[in-house]
Amino acid sequence: MAERMLKFVATPQALPDKRPAAERRRDFQEIYALYAREKAAEQASRCSQCGVPFCQVHCPLHNNIPDWLKLTAEGRLDEAYELSSATNNFPEICGRICPQDRLCEGNCVIEKGFESVTIGSVEKFITDTAWEQGWVRPIQPRRERAQSVGIVGAGPGGLAAAEQLRRKGYQVAVYDRYDRVGGLLIYGIPNFKLEKDIVQRRETLLRESSVTFHLGCEVGRDVSLAELRERHDAVLIATGVYKARDIAAPGVGLPSIAPALDYLTASNRAGLGDEVPDFASGLLDAKGKNVVVIGGGDTAMDCVRTAVRQGAKSVKCLYRRDRANMPGSQREVKHAEEEGVEFVWLSAPQAFLGKASSEGERVSHVRSVRIHLGMPDASGRQTPQEIPNSHVNIEADLVLKALGFDPEDLPAQFAAPDLDVTGWGTLKIDWRTMMTSLDGVFAAGDIVRGASLVVWAVRDGRDAAERIHSYLTTKPQALPVAAE
Ligand code: FAD
Ligand code: SF4
Ligand code: SF4
Repeated sequence: MAERMLKFVATPQALPDKRPAAERRRDFQEIYALYAREKAAEQASRCSQCGVPFCQVHCPLHNNIPDWLKLTAEGRLDEAYELSSATNNFPEICGRICPQDRLCEGNCVIEKGFESVTIGSVEKFITDTAWEQGWVRPIQPRRERAQSVGIVGAGPGGLAAAEQLRRKGYQVAVYDRYDRVGGLLIYGIPNFKLEKDIVQRRETLLRESSVTFHLGCEVGRDVSLAELRERHDAVLIATGVYKARDIAAPGVGLPSIAPALDYLTASNRAGLGDEVPDFASGLLDAKGKNVVVIGGGDTAMDCVRTAVRQGAKSVKCLYRRDRANMPGSQREVKHAEEEGVEFVWLSAPQAFLGKASSEGERVSHVRSVRIHLGMPDASGRQTPQEIPNSHVNIEADLVLKALGFDPEDLPAQFAAPDLDVTGWGTLKIDWRTMMTSLDGVFAAGDIVRGASLVVWAVRDGRDAAERIHSYLTTKPQALPVAAE
């Protein structure tokens, strides 16, 4: 092992080639190339094969990282794929969009002094190779079970659960109000981070594995939760969080001030070839505009980088804290800066000013005030305080609000007053069973955690599938096995 591994002293860290910013600004394609086989092996060989691998501890899926790095270094990619896919339903997706600097790579022991092993890029390489080689095949359960599970939500949480349950032989039906499978993977996250065909080939695989999809079907409108409970032996709710937080400032209701997800969904739909009236009319198209994005998380980063690609005249990101205290990934900030985004740290909107235009009144400026970070609050974070008389007017033709998301009112939406929620409106579950307050109704992903990450949704979906299996196999009225 020693000859092949532990190469971090002599071999510097090398991410896959990143396309030049000037080229990236002109299209929506992913920004990193795939490793060549030798490069993946070389980078994997930098791993020091830690006895206690902190990378694995800090991966929400506890992926067996050192072992699949070793297999990659040895060129045993089929085995690396088997191992990697045993703990993760979508390794090529997580390899692309996990904030690795906060998870596996940020905790790699060689990070101090030598820069981490490029875990995410190797993970993506292994599974992209598996797809190319035809190693990723539809599920053929060893035995079919007559029991069925209904899953509400075709995002990563729902899809991971669907795959795991199908492996165990359950009949799985997924319901989603969108017209496509993938949730935020399709309509939230832009192409330059995750190309849509990567998600769509997963959908095809699940369909080929006999998972059925009911798209354009909103639970609470087209079918009730009560009906789903009748129809299925268990139900999983994985509906995510979609209620955009707003800003309380004068002028916030002006046209051309839009929620971030409306803007990103319009852009993703346009990219997929859909007719999008608000995009075609120019309302949600940044082309030729001065764009101001408010917020400092991943959604804000996706908005600024989308606006650049749509041909905005200028793109500014206003955030009330400083760079060190922003919630978004530092890697994303770097990409955005390279692509020409200007960050206005320690600034908050105070008011939105309007102007008359041929289409009626439109936003013209954001009045922004400077912020001083004061004493830490109960959570330990410094409190932003406005500096008096420090305001400036920033020119803006399109303002995007990216301040985070809250859950919708599910008990009301589902006409299920007995469905318990927390003080934040997320679904209350018993973490040992992942069951909600309703018998046989489970929950996973953002609707339980609040806005989180894809990798956590996958973890929850897998855990929920295990708990549903335990529930169905121990339930006294469980139906007999249909076929061996
Ligand atoms: P979702 O992906 O939200 O899927 C929920 C699904 O439920 C949707 O398809 C929705 O249509 C459906 N649904 C909702 N209500 C109903 C109903 N009543 N009936 C039927 N269907 C319903 N995470 C990362 O790890 N990396 C990133 O780079 C990243 N970037 C992001 C960028 C943006 C713009 C956003 C908004 C989020 C980002 N995230 C990122 C977070 C990540 O996308 C989510 O944490 C993850 O998608 C949550 O998965 P989920 O399955 O719980 O919910
Ligand atoms: Fe790292 Fe995410 Fe892969 Fe885990 S799933 S190893 S956190 S990239
Ligand atoms: Fe390898 Fe880094 Fe993980 Fe250690 S922490 S096993 S060096 S990837």
